[in-house]
Amino acid sequence: MSEWDTYAQCKCRMLYRAPFGDRFHIHREVCSRCGLDKMYWEIVVAREVQTGNWWNPWSWASHWEYKD
Ligand SMILES: [Zn+2]
Repeated sequence: MSEWDTYAQCKCRMLYRAPFGDRFHIHREVCSRCGLDKMYWEIVVAREVQTGNWWNPWSWASHWEYKD
């Protein structure tokens, strides 16, 4: 399980790591997936959670968990 980190989340659910919790440190002006301007992205705290059994690569998956 990874550490909690700060991300900017686009309205299309795309996540970008946001250094210092500030979207202005992201070297990108628009979303690579939907093209939305980064001023509309929301700052969230999230971490990636790995699921599945270590002995079964076919079960490996991950999802994002959000902190309130
Ligand atoms: Zn987007």
